[in-house]
Amino acid sequence: MIALAAPLLSSISGYWAGAFQDLSALPQLDVFDPASGALLATVPQMGALEARLAVESAAARLRSPPNLPERGRILSNIEAGLLAEQEQFAELITRENGKPLAEARAEVAYAAGFFRDARRHLDALQPKTLPTRPRGLTWRVHHRPAGVAALITPWNFPMGMLAKKLAGAIAGGCPSVVKPSEITPLSTIAWFAQLHALGLPPGLVNLVFGDAAAIGKVLCSHPAVRVLSFTGSTAVGALLSQQAAPHFKRLSLELGGNAPFLVFEDADLDTAVDALMANKFRNTGQTCVCANRVYVARAIAEPFVSAVAARVRALRAGPGMEAGVDIGPMIDARGYAKVHSHVQDALAMGATLVVGGSGDPAQRFFPPTLLTGITPTMACASEETFGPVIAISVFDDEDAMVQAADDTPYGLAAYVFTADRARADRVVAQLHFGHVAVNTGSGPTPEVPFGGFRCSGLGREGGAEGVMEYVELQTVPWGPAVG
Ligand code: NAP
Repeated sequence: MIALAAPLLSSISGYWAGAFQDLSALPQLDVFDPASGALLATVPQMGALEARLAVESAAARLRSPPNLPERGRILSNIEAGLLAEQEQFAELITRENGKPLAEARAEVAYAAGFFRDARRHLDALQPKTLPTRPRGLTWRVHHRPAGVAALITPWNFPMGMLAKKLAGAIAGGCPSVVKPSEITPLSTIAWFAQLHALGLPPGLVNLVFGDAAAIGKVLCSHPAVRVLSFTGSTAVGALLSQQAAPHFKRLSLELGGNAPFLVFEDADLDTAVDALMANKFRNTGQTCVCANRVYVARAIAEPFVSAVAARVRALRAGPGMEAGVDIGPMIDARGYAKVHSHVQDALAMGATLVVGGSGDPAQRFFPPTLLTGITPTMACASEETFGPVIAISVFDDEDAMVQAADDTPYGLAAYVFTADRARADRVVAQLHFGHVAVNTGSGPTPEVPFGGFRCSGLGREGGAEGVMEYVELQTVPWGPAVG
């Protein structure tokens, strides 16, 4: 087992009723370092019973949720705690997820930003009194905590994705039950040790992980859970929607993407190439917003492809803890196999391999790859590849390019590169995606709402909108004075 330099990981267990629980009698799950396959830790495999206990702990706290000033203090303390232990959290993320340490540090800073931003929206949650008196009555609108929030997160940004949800839930006054991926539970467990040390009110945050299906069923059906916030695959999002539907939970779903990256003939090539490299290879291409389909105007296709090829050849893959590494390993054998099959499928259907290749499925590091000649029926065009593969198609005119880019059931992120402002406005308006970046490969930031159109999800995270996901509006007309 690798020695983890993480004092916060002294208790590796589930957390509810304000304490880490003794779950040593449960079966144990192994957590591995994806870069080496070494065992990092064993964690208890929780299930339905533990999920119910965690929900009951949260439901008890709902009877006396923190008031607005208390929420402000909690949000500030969490932000400060993340920044104070940025290095320790970053190392845990890199160990369990594999991403380069610099990216893990950026993820912790990104996570802290959600707590800073959520604090700015607390004033908007004060009760509001209508300035007029329709029907001769005084009308007040309260922003009540929506109920217990179930927060289910994926392995690709174990702290960043949780921060988006937890900051909104705390700002809204909702106690939460957190369920991280069993692949990457360690950074979340360490974060809970810090939340415990911060003296959060018992029951405000609770933690379970293990048997995802059993835990998910409890979170979808328990009457105290009123908000189900999930980030992960569209398939699991659909399953959770079905399970939650009879109970009318409020759903916030951040699901898969299939991001198009459009480069028109008037684009600044260096800007577009830099943006593509940073956007595509973050987290080894295992991000929901990374460019999956690159569409390039024929007039600039040759210089664009050769500039990208030179940059892809220069990438260095290796363990995220090593200095100078650009991309880490694939998360697991299943992730590797999917990327491998997408590359094989594209080559069998006539794509050209410019750099990289299919690699060896027994390995952990997929070679950074560049393919051209991609057609819409290839798997890498119709599905998220979720790996370090750039797949390029060449187009002759704007309409055809925009139509191809928008021809997907998904709608999370898209990128447009052009020097023509009118064209940018025109193209952005035709793309049915929740996040459309112009002349930048930037993903979201905590200060703005982020979420998907179509099969990429429901609801928004970040900004004021991310807080409102956890709030119910209660309208109170007051008749003649009482008391
Ligand atoms: P996943 O398989 O859907 O897993 C996500 C989470 O759901 C994990 O905690 C997983 O637990 C849990 N889960 C799996 N089956 C479940 C069930 N039956 N009931 C309840 N929970 C269940 O997705 P992933 O492969 O980890 O993540 C990659 C996907 O997430 C990609 O499609 C990516 O695009 C998407 N994503 C979207 C966003 C966004 O903002 N829209 C951001 C990041 C990622 P276990 O891991 O323990 O099984």
